[in-house]
Amino acid sequence: MSSKSNQQPKQPQQLQHPQHPQQPQQPQHLSRRGFLAQAAAVAGAATAAALLPQQPALAVEEGFAGDWAADGSGTVELPDSRQTNATGNDGTYRELNGEVFPADDATPILPRPVPEKWDATCDIIVVGAGGGGLNAAARAAELGAEVICVEAMAMHGGNAQSAGMCGILGGLSMQESKRFAMPSYPFDPKALTAWAMDEYHYAADPNLIYLIAEQGGPSLDWMASCGVEWRLGEVPVYVAPKNSTLDHHVLKMKDATDAMHDYGVSKGVDFRFRCPAEALVQDGSGRIVGLVVREDYQNEIYIQARQAVILTAGGFCNNKALLQRYIPTAAMGCASSYLLGGEMGECFRMGLGVGADVSGFNSSASFDGGVDWEAEGGTWAHFLYDGMTQLSRQPWLTIDRCGNRLRFMDSRVAEDGANAIYALGDLATIQMATPGHRSYIIFDADYEQHLAGFAQEHCRKLLTPDLEQIDKVPEHYRDWHHGVQDALDADVLKRRDTLEELERDLGFEPGILVAAVEHWNENCAKGEDDFYYPLPPEWLHAIQKPPFYGCRIGGNLYGTKAGLLINTQMQVVGTNGKVIPGLYAGWHTAGGACGENSYIGDPILGSLMGDVGLAFCGGYLCGGFAVQNEKVD
Ligand SMILES: Cc1cc2nc3c(=O)[nH]c(=O)nc-3n(C[C@H](O)[C@H](O)[C@H](O)COP(=O)(O)OP(=O)(O)OC[C@H]3O[C@@H](n4cnc5c(N)ncnc54)[C@H](O)[C@@H]3O)c2cc1C
Repeated sequence: MSSKSNQQPKQPQQLQHPQHPQQPQQPQHLSRRGFLAQAAAVAGAATAAALLPQQPALAVEEGFAGDWAADGSGTVELPDSRQTNATGNDGTYRELNGEVFPADDATPILPRPVPEKWDATCDIIVVGAGGGGLNAAARAAELGAEVICVEAMAMHGGNAQSAGMCGILGGLSMQESKRFAMPSYPFDPKALTAWAMDEYHYAADPNLIYLIAEQGGPSLDWMASCGVEWRLGEVPVYVAPKNSTLDHHVLKMKDATDAMHDYGVSKGVDFRFRCPAEALVQDGSGRIVGLVVREDYQNEIYIQARQAVILTAGGFCNNKALLQRYIPTAAMGCASSYLLGGEMGECFRMGLGVGADVSGFNSSASFDGGVDWEAEGGTWAHFLYDGMTQLSRQPWLTIDRCGNRLRFMDSRVAEDGANAIYALGDLATIQMATPGHRSYIIFDADYEQHLAGFAQEHCRKLLTPDLEQIDKVPEHYRDWHHGVQDALDADVLKRRDTLEELERDLGFEPGILVAAVEHWNENCAKGEDDFYYPLPPEWLHAIQKPPFYGCRIGGNLYGTKAGLLINTQMQVVGTNGKVIPGLYAGWHTAGGACGENSYIGDPILGSLMGDVGLAFCGGYLCGGFAVQNEKVD
């Protein structure tokens, strides 16, 4: 990620699937909803539902993208996103504009048959060289497998290299010195599982949660033995002041992914960059025996995997059609995503293509203050630390479309480090749950003077060139002002001379914003906030000096957790309930670790280990299980 213009290239849509014979033809100019309505009208008394053929209990309507539960086939028609896009002129969003996404296709990718001749051969193929893939490749190679790791980008690290923090709730040997474990010390993975299942409202597989609880610590300890230094500077850093309920290690993920890459190389992993996976290869018995990749983005080659293919290619934050189908809350409420690399969901679709089941429906993770770049014609994916995002996360006057105030969650460490982390995810939930799925921040010309007093921590900290690890940030963004200027230039952050103009251009009904500001200013004058969740007096700054600023925000999607169903050996499981032989998946490509309908939520509980930790642990497990289970003599 080297500059602000470094966006993913657009993917050509794969729409050339034969129409299902039973499926009525959908006219090009109609949205899916309009089509169904018209079809129902034509059928007289028949409802749209009655037009649909019989389906198994969990299946979606036959013939539509993601028809995985019916037969896993690719005989589906995908509506053109430009025609189904229902973006509101007033700035509300119920569906997303596919134009701004790198990918917009939910169709299963069908497997290829075994070729007459393989172009390369190995024991285990790992797809993706990010947090999960680097671990999977290194672990499998360490255990004696011959490994090829294919990566779509030109470098290792994936999104994991941008992460700043890995959470772990106990079981890491370093935590012994602090006598820390959740829910109580000494660490007991069963107790942690019981606590987590309760937190997840039991909508998770206890065996998978137990696996994470039990193996999370050992997987990070193993990384330490491979050369990863779990420390910042000279000492391990904990964000866990007294009364804290959580223990976090602030880690340098770029260093961690570099170390795991080097370890993999030392164990003989054959890394192949600029080499996106395009399809699985399946033999007549149903076993996955290889992979088709596009070498150097040009030549299609077939690689044989004598033992297994491991899918560790992240989730699908950047695929509009997959979001709408499997994670509708994120599709409605997230204003943007900050996962720039990959996340287009091909590997998930490859799994669907060989009949994999799906778990973790509607499960995702978001941070607060997602800036609605799309609303002004920008792109969906943005770098998290782009300055404008940090500005949007401050305790400004924040309202919904009705003018109601929204709760702000403080990220200052103060007495409880845990709350500081939870705040980022929980605020996203608040911001997404409002009418129209957008929230609004408003401030005036003096905003810069107020920033220091807010003293927000973690990813809300405004970036300045002197910050530790600033080298992880693309040069353009090393001063937060630059990203804010970009937002002003794009009119994403609106600057207007009057409140009435701002109100109109943010899409409010007349009077709503003006009245909300008036009430806010009364509170500021009194120095006392009458809102149910009052802000401290030192944060109450009247909005009175033009120009006035406003921005639409929603959640900031950073992880999808709907993915391929796996068992506790990380093997992908089909809709028939059977393991798909030879196919493994690490979390994010696999789903379900945190249960169904686990939308948004905090970064730690969302998966017990945070997202990057989950990827690390899942990759480690995939590598180990694949070697152990698939040994050929
Ligand atoms: C700016 C930023 C900050 C973050 N901060 C945190 C944090 O502090 N804590 C936390 O827990 N999480 C954080 N995250 C999220 C975390 O980084 C991700 O959840 C994690 O990287 C997921 O790991 P992964 O291995 O599943 O995917 P990735 O690390 O994204 O790796 C997947 C790899 O697969 C490759 N790939 C994709 N498709 C293909 C294909 N078809 N063929 C070949 N290769 C493919 C991708 O190019 C990528 O390199 C952050 C993310 C970002 C971007």
